[in-house]
Amino acid sequence: MELILSDRMGYCGGVSRAIGMVERAIEEAREKHIPVYSLGKVIHNQRVCSTFAEQGLKTITSPSDNPPGLVVLRAHGVPDALRREFVDAGFTIMDATCSVVSRNLNLIAEEQKRAEIVIIGYENHPETLAMQGVEKEGRSHSSICIASPEGALQLEKDKQYSVFVQTTFDRILWKKIQDSLLVLKSQGYGIEFRNEVCPSSVNRRDAALRLCEKCDAILVVGGKESANTRALYNLIVDQGKRAWHIETEDEVTPEMKAYGILGVTAGASTPQLTIDAVLLKLKESEDGHTK
Ligand code: SF4
Repeated sequence: MELILSDRMGYCGGVSRAIGMVERAIEEAREKHIPVYSLGKVIHNQRVCSTFAEQGLKTITSPSDNPPGLVVLRAHGVPDALRREFVDAGFTIMDATCSVVSRNLNLIAEEQKRAEIVIIGYENHPETLAMQGVEKEGRSHSSICIASPEGALQLEKDKQYSVFVQTTFDRILWKKIQDSLLVLKSQGYGIEFRNEVCPSSVNRRDAALRLCEKCDAILVVGGKESANTRALYNLIVDQGKRAWHIETEDEVTPEMKAYGILGVTAGASTPQLTIDAVLLKLKESEDGHTK
C-alpha cells in the first residue's frame, strides 16, 4: 500500500491560537491558584479535550455554580449575552475567538441596522449560536438560520437580507444554498452576500480534491463532532471515493490497508500527534511491526 498525505491538513491558524491560549490560561491559573475553564469544548477533538481536563481545565456552559476564575472563549466565538454573564459573575475572559470569525460577528452587528441577517450554518453549532447572539447597543437581533436550499423559500421579497455563512460550512451545500438565493436575487429579492467559508477550509478541501485524483481511497482523521472534518469526508464521498472518517488510530482497519494507494487528510482540529499515530498504525504489518 502506498500512502499519500494531503498537503493541507491538521490545525488551522484559529485552532492553533486557541490551543496556545488554553495552555497559557492553565499555566496562569496554576500560578494564581484560581480555577480555569473553557466555555464549551475548546475544539472538537476528544483527545485534546481530555488532555486539558487532566491539566485542570473544566469545560462549562455558563458561569452558574462555578467559582469565578479564568475562562477561555473558544475559536468559534460566543453569543454576546453569554459573554456578559461571565463578566458580570467576575470571571476573567481570555478570548480565543478566531479573527476570521470575529470579523463576521462585527459585520453582523453593523449589518443588522439595515438588513435582516440570514445565517447559513448548522443549527446549534457554536459558531452559528455566536452569530445568532450578536448584539448591537445591548440589543439582540432576530435572524434566519438556513441549512438547506429549501430554507431560502422563507425569505420575503419586500425585505433586505445580509447573508453570512458559517466559516466551516460544507462548501458544496453552501454553493447549492447560494444558487437558490441567487435565483431569488434575480427575481428582485434584496439579498447581499457578506462573507465566504474560511479560506483555510477552502484550501484544505481543494487539497482533498487533488488527493481524490491520485488515490483509490481516503482516510479522513478528525473528531466525530467536528463540522469541518465531516464536510471534508462528505466532499470526498461526493467524488465517488471510498472514504472513512476516524477519530483515532484505534479505528484503523485491515480494509483500509488493502487499497493500492491510500490518501490521508485531517480536519482543522486534528492534532499532529493523532495524525502521526494513524500513519504509524497504517504502516504496521499484521504482526505489529512497522514496515
Ligand atoms: S477554520 Fe478558519 S475561521 Fe475557523 S478557526 Fe480555523 S482559521 Fe478560524
